[in-house]
Amino acid sequence: MIKVAKFGGTSLSNDKQFTKVRDIIKNDNTIKYVVASAPGTTDGLNSKITDLLYLCYRNKKNNNNYKEIFYEISERFNKIVEKLNLDINLKLELKNIYNSLEENCEEDYFVSRGEYINSKILAEYIGFDFIDAKNIIFFDDDGFLNVEKTNMEISKILKENVVIPGFYGSYDDGRIKTFSRGGSDITGSLISSAVGVDIYENWTDVSGLLMADPRIINNPKKIDVMTYRELRELAYMGATVLHDEAVFPVREANIPINIRNTNQPQGCGTLIVEKVEDEEVERIITGISGKKNYTVFCINKANMASQVGIMKSALDVFYKRKIVIEHVPTGIDSFSVIVASSAVANIIDKILNELKSTCKADKIIVYTDIALVTSVGRNIRNKSSIFKRLFSALEKENIDVKIIAQGLSEINVIIGVDNRNFESTIKAIYDEFVN
Ligand code: ASP
Repeated sequence: MIKVAKFGGTSLSNDKQFTKVRDIIKNDNTIKYVVASAPGTTDGLNSKITDLLYLCYRNKKNNNNYKEIFYEISERFNKIVEKLNLDINLKLELKNIYNSLEENCEEDYFVSRGEYINSKILAEYIGFDFIDAKNIIFFDDDGFLNVEKTNMEISKILKENVVIPGFYGSYDDGRIKTFSRGGSDITGSLISSAVGVDIYENWTDVSGLLMADPRIINNPKKIDVMTYRELRELAYMGATVLHDEAVFPVREANIPINIRNTNQPQGCGTLIVEKVEDEEVERIITGISGKKNYTVFCINKANMASQVGIMKSALDVFYKRKIVIEHVPTGIDSFSVIVASSAVANIIDKILNELKSTCKADKIIVYTDIALVTSVGRNIRNKSSIFKRLFSALEKENIDVKIIAQGLSEINVIIGVDNRNFESTIKAIYDEFVN
């Protein structure tokens, strides 16, 4: 058994966290590859190093004060090295980074230095070798990941017992390019799939995914095991623990992801796999998540089902304006287009007029301030009684359901309610199916 272990920013935010990480690695000799983020916040008291790096870079660009910020960044690293008693020459590294800032280096290079330095420190601390991500993760000229080259270089260069900085790679010409924020998860996933490890461990500051948002449900249950698809559905609707793009490489290679808590390493976290064999699991719903602030355009036209092109002309109205469409639930003589309210703010009337003229609809109703709540579970589609339970639970709470969306092959049920009913909807569903 071999593993990649990726440690997030909170897991490596100060010397105490470094010690926890070292213990985790020393107690598990199957961890052969370690991916590190830049230091995150410590008990919410200080800033994430990556945020400071962005701020520092922008201030320099805008001729605002940047030296103090660079000093703050340097001190965070110096303190870790000092407290861990490490013999590593950070001064030179920091000086080089500072000089490149003075020489107007590129932003991606500068902000990636948090991962770079932190990984060097960690490698020294645990006695692993440091491998620079710029030599194994590659992007093409358009900024897309060059999967082939990345896989090839990882298999060629990567040996066991190494620490690799997350979040960045390089173009063919050696310039640094970062992923989007939180991208160290992607680095870990790419390495896991290229090496073909048995498990991708993703160490963070929560003990796995919860069945619902703890700000809404008091002490929600943890999800022990779930499928990649369920994770995707829940994450899309707001449950965040892993970068969206991190799922694809490991999923293709069928490598389980294990979300674990650096502060409670004895817990087994959440395991994410392709298929859950043990369907004895009684629970029908794996998790509930949702988001507020959607706008729904409900287009009604008699005999619509037998006419060609109505839906296309409606969708074109949104396409023309590059508005992302979230869902399109349909009926016999109607269909609805659901979009984020922020995408149509101030142009609802314009869109309405265009829809009226292109679709020649009988009636268009617009609902604003809609929240979507998704209940995800791999067994949902097989159980028609679920709908009965779901809707009677909502009825009991006097919650008016405005929209229902479920594709034929889906593993979720999405319902739209007024924003003000968002929390009570999640509570009602949780109480019905979990408590
Ligand atoms: N440090 C980077 C960020 O804050 C990347 C990461 O932590 O994954 O976005």
